[in-house]
Amino acid sequence: MKRASLLRVYLLVAISGTAMAMLWTLSTSTWATAQTLLFYAALIAIAAWVRVDDEASGFEAAVAFAAILVLHDPAVALVSVFAGTAAYLIVRDSKRGTFRFETLYDAAQLALSYYVVAGLYASAVARNAPLMAKLSGYVLLVVGYLVAHIAFVAIRQGLAGNADAIDVRRILITQGRMLLLMSPVVAVEVLSYSAYGKLGFVLAFLPVLLVAYSMRNETNAVRQNAELTRRNRELSILTESASQILTAEGDQETLRRMVALLGRLAKLKACAIVTWGVNPDIPATVYRHGFCDPTDQDILAWVESAGFAESAPSRAFVFHNDQRRFPLSEGNAIQVLIGIQTAEVIYGILVYETEDPSILKSGSMNLLTLLVNQAGVSLQDQLLRREMVEKTTQLEAQAATKSLILEVANGLIGSFDVDAMLTRIALAIAKALGFEIVVFALYDAKREEFTRRAHAGLDDVWEEMKKKPVSAAEIKPFFAEEFRVSNSYFVSHKALQQSEHGLFVKHDDEDQNRRPDEWHENDLLIVPLLSADETMGYLSVRDPQDRRVPNTETVQTLEIFALQAVTALRSARQYEEIRRLTFIDGLTSAYNHRYFQEALAKEVHRHARSGHEFALAMLDIDNFKRINDTFGHPVGDEILKGLVDELMTNARDTDVVSRYGGEEFAIIFAGTPALSSHDAANRMRELVAKREFAIASAGRTLRVTVSIGVAVYPHDGATTTDLVARADAALYFAKKNGKNQVAMAGELPVESASA
Ligand code: GH3
Ligand code: MG
Ligand code: MG
Repeated sequence: MKRASLLRVYLLVAISGTAMAMLWTLSTSTWATAQTLLFYAALIAIAAWVRVDDEASGFEAAVAFAAILVLHDPAVALVSVFAGTAAYLIVRDSKRGTFRFETLYDAAQLALSYYVVAGLYASAVARNAPLMAKLSGYVLLVVGYLVAHIAFVAIRQGLAGNADAIDVRRILITQGRMLLLMSPVVAVEVLSYSAYGKLGFVLAFLPVLLVAYSMRNETNAVRQNAELTRRNRELSILTESASQILTAEGDQETLRRMVALLGRLAKLKACAIVTWGVNPDIPATVYRHGFCDPTDQDILAWVESAGFAESAPSRAFVFHNDQRRFPLSEGNAIQVLIGIQTAEVIYGILVYETEDPSILKSGSMNLLTLLVNQAGVSLQDQLLRREMVEKTTQLEAQAATKSLILEVANGLIGSFDVDAMLTRIALAIAKALGFEIVVFALYDAKREEFTRRAHAGLDDVWEEMKKKPVSAAEIKPFFAEEFRVSNSYFVSHKALQQSEHGLFVKHDDEDQNRRPDEWHENDLLIVPLLSADETMGYLSVRDPQDRRVPNTETVQTLEIFALQAVTALRSARQYEEIRRLTFIDGLTSAYNHRYFQEALAKEVHRHARSGHEFALAMLDIDNFKRINDTFGHPVGDEILKGLVDELMTNARDTDVVSRYGGEEFAIIFAGTPALSSHDAANRMRELVAKREFAIASAGRTLRVTVSIGVAVYPHDGATTTDLVARADAALYFAKKNGKNQVAMAGELPVESASA
């Protein structure tokens, strides 16, 4: 059988056994005896009523002991104590409206205790024994009563399952003190009874009633005083709570102050608070106060398993001692469980343990709930304020970004220098969106690679990086749907580690400690520069200052900047095209006359400062008229194109080949002195002479020769006009001297030079 049902049976047997014994005794005794027994029962009921408090047995002992002594009959203990105490308990409990059958057990236990010792006394001491014998008998009575009382308490507590809770010392002190107090009263009653009978007994008992009554009032006053002190304390906590909790800065400080106030309400034994943020990805935090036995992990696991994050108790739940589902501390304690929350959000859960039962008073409970709710409101307030500050900063940043975008757009107008434009945009991105590193790379379709062209934040390594192109094959895997954010691609370092390209080899073990949206130094964010279907290049950013993976909004802002770059690139290309049309000869793709004049003027200007030499060669096809006349103008045109091709493939990058007019061409040999320029011109002449010009329409090849006149700056002329005139004169000499040759203006015979 289970312990709980054993206890029930025990209580039932004790109560019904005592009641039956009482009835049997009453029914078998004479009417006079019964009357006497009921008389003492009435006195005991009155004595019980004036007792000081519920716990200590009171003045009924004065009646019961005296009655045992004068009647010398254990029956008086059984009948009067049970009837009197039971009558008192029934009236008391029915007034409170909490009557339970088990309360009768207290009466039965008391009656049985007295009955046992009364029986012992009656059999040990003769009815007419001498006084001293009766006195020793009384001592036996008192000691026996204590032993019996403790024994009964032990049985009951043992069956209730908390045998260790019996405080023998406390029982001995309270009961012993009461019995000591009662002993003189008992003596007076016995003496008074022997002189005046029952009336004497009652008279002797009257002063006791008066003392008891005044004592009870005093006790009540002390109790009320304590209650008042408690309420005062609660009131001061209440007045302070508003200023304390609501002015706290930061979640941790708010909770700390709440716990401090709770500790003043009832002394804290242990306390654990678990809070979780609005973002479910961020793990919960445990705050501990006092001595909590479980580890943080245990506490978190319990809170998780109880599902408090989804629904936490909005009012305080109380658990006593062994009823606690999750005890924080050793031994007995009252545990209070309540959610820290508002109507909108559950911030966390509070588990609070104290040994102070005053927490259970409804006033204290209400105050506790209020404090916790205040903390919830304060946390919400702080969260809202934080969000507001964040939003404001965001709006300000957006406004700044917008004006920066406009500024960049305006700045790009009128500029066609691609690298300068891209650098400008890169710097604006770094400033507006807070990326430490920004790189623009452009696609070279012929080589199938990307060349880095502009940057922000890479000053130290830029020269090296610029030289190293990124092959298209290396970049293409990142332009995959799985990495796509808006129209860009975010490749996390995890994906990079897995990729076989091994761009980054450094592995990272700290991943579990990272926030899910934390930027990793190996993360990659690439925005393609797209024009129609063509990839013009890409924009890549790294190292955001806030150490967060950029959100879609930031990515879209990046795309606006990327679009600016695309527009800039396109207008630069258009500009190049217009420039080409303006300065390039339509037939041969050599520079035209206009460009030649500008280039020559520039060279004169440049070399005027440095004092270095440069050469101008004028070139004319020999007997070109004959080719036109024989094969027609289109064939002549073919020859002209072929000639320019020959000249341009063999000229140096710095040389300028232009069509001066008709079948005459000019070549500026930059930074070339007289001797070298003669060699260069002569090499050109030889190359042309050797070339077989394929004429598709005629189905054959042709050969031509050229005559070249060379003038050297500043020796032959210090102005463009002089230089052209001197080169022309040299060309004229070359023609006259037999064609297919080079003539230097500085070496012309005197008569030609003046011609
Ligand atoms: P040389 O220079 O050796 O004294 O004899 P030439 O026959 O080449 O004489 P000249 O330089 O005076 O001839 C110029 C000729 O070049 C005239 C013209 O028919 C031809 N010519 C000029 N421009 C073009 C052109 O754009 N296309 C073609 N097919 N012929 C051109
Ligand atoms: Mg000519
Ligand atoms: Mg000619």
